[in-house]
Amino acid sequence: MHVSIVLFTADLRLHDHPPLRAALAAADAVVPLFVLDPAIEDTGFAAPNRRAFLHDCLADLDASLRQRGGRLVVRGGDPVTQVCRVATETDAREVHLSAGHSAFAAHREERLRAALERSGRRLIVHDAVTVAVPPGTITPASAGHFTVFTPYHRHWESTSLRAAVAAPRRVSVPDEAIGEKIPSRTATGVSPALPPGGEGPARAQMTAYWRKGLDAYDDTRDDMGADATSRFSAHLHFGTLSPVELVQRARRHGGAGALSFVRQLAWRDFHRQVLAARPHSAHTDLRTQHDHWRTEHAARADIDAWREGRTGYPVIDAAMRQLREEGWMHNRARLLTASFLTKTLYIDWRIGAAHFLYWLVDGDIANNQLNWQWMAGTGTDTRPNRVLNPITQARKYDPRGVYVHRWVPELRGVDAPRVHEPWRLPAPARAALHYPDPLVTLPDGLIRFHRARGKRP
Ligand code: FAD
Repeated sequence: MHVSIVLFTADLRLHDHPPLRAALAAADAVVPLFVLDPAIEDTGFAAPNRRAFLHDCLADLDASLRQRGGRLVVRGGDPVTQVCRVATETDAREVHLSAGHSAFAAHREERLRAALERSGRRLIVHDAVTVAVPPGTITPASAGHFTVFTPYHRHWESTSLRAAVAAPRRVSVPDEAIGEKIPSRTATGVSPALPPGGEGPARAQMTAYWRKGLDAYDDTRDDMGADATSRFSAHLHFGTLSPVELVQRARRHGGAGALSFVRQLAWRDFHRQVLAARPHSAHTDLRTQHDHWRTEHAARADIDAWREGRTGYPVIDAAMRQLREEGWMHNRARLLTASFLTKTLYIDWRIGAAHFLYWLVDGDIANNQLNWQWMAGTGTDTRPNRVLNPITQARKYDPRGVYVHRWVPELRGVDAPRVHEPWRLPAPARAALHYPDPLVTLPDGLIRFHRARGKRP
């Protein structure tokens, strides 16, 4: 009997899964395998929200496979060792895997290929499973990867995508493939309003958004109170939705909302091709501005106030509280809180990125670190010294104070636009709010930043 293994990683779905389709086409039986890697736990990357979401995804994938006559085989340990063991136990000839784009994924792939080859087996890596357009597909004439989004996007738009593949009807798993118990979600340390993970919820959300959200996306995507973006990010991170399928469906749907949505998916691919070409950008400046950032030691009180949502700037505090409560934050709010930390408080972007990575259910090395670098001015933004003003931005993107009222209950009695500047209230009204004064005034923050970057204030 010809057996193949499909090693699931960031592609926890059955719809549009080329490695699974290829394995099923070639073999009589397939082992759908997921390995819980303790190295991911050790690096701190498996933070409580993502761990809980992952456990949902695994349970959902197992249930979908069982509906098709199969099951998910889960093992704990080093992925290379476990894959090789399962290959020996089931006499599998080859292993199918989706390409990953981080240094971690590249190293795992390299080790796996070498280990399999030693026992006469093959590793088959499939592209365009976790991205729409894989890194390296489109490159500028003069360099190996794009460093500016606009030209990248022009090429990305005209790149043809592979056809999405249907979910299999039957999956036959050999009896020899023995797994461990699939862990179930625990609540410890998890954000209270964390949504459920898994392909089932993801596809239901996709159908609902196509019906009700997509057409208005372009008009509402920056409205923090409307909360009208897709919230697909965690599903894209864990691969319970396929980027190729999303782009194709959105293009078929058509209209300004769908086009604008597809553009955001291009940002995702853009960051992945930067990370693939410059793996160190996960931790070091892509384009240094020679910053001498304030660090954890020097700015402890400011960092704690930012993390806990008590900076005295309502829109910043609302965002930081949403992050803890939901394990997610609106994109406009991510931009504002990142600008506030790096530019207004002049604190190292890595401190902010680490806090986001701890809480975000969609926390993703490429998207998180490179968006942080973009906002810190050390990444791919062509205007590295741009500073977002939290008051004017709040007035524009939360004009009625809906977002602030939702997350900062102390300010619920204060109307917009004053809710964005509560320090302007008369002293007795202000005292009654029990809301902190601003950590720093915006002009003082700006002067510090401009001096640090060697600009005239
Ligand atoms: P939508 O607006 O509905 O967009 C659809 C999809 O497009 C998103 O799900 C996402 O996959 C992709 N996308 C949208 N905006 C971006 C962007 N700027 N860069 C890359 N992809 C994008 N996104 C993550 O997935 N993980 C992160 O860890 C992450 N950290 C961020 C940190 C900072 C400081 C900033 C400014 C942005 C970060 N983003 C991150 C990007 C973006 O904020 C989120 O993808 C988006 O808010 C998720 O909400 P949504 O799914 O409703 O997005």
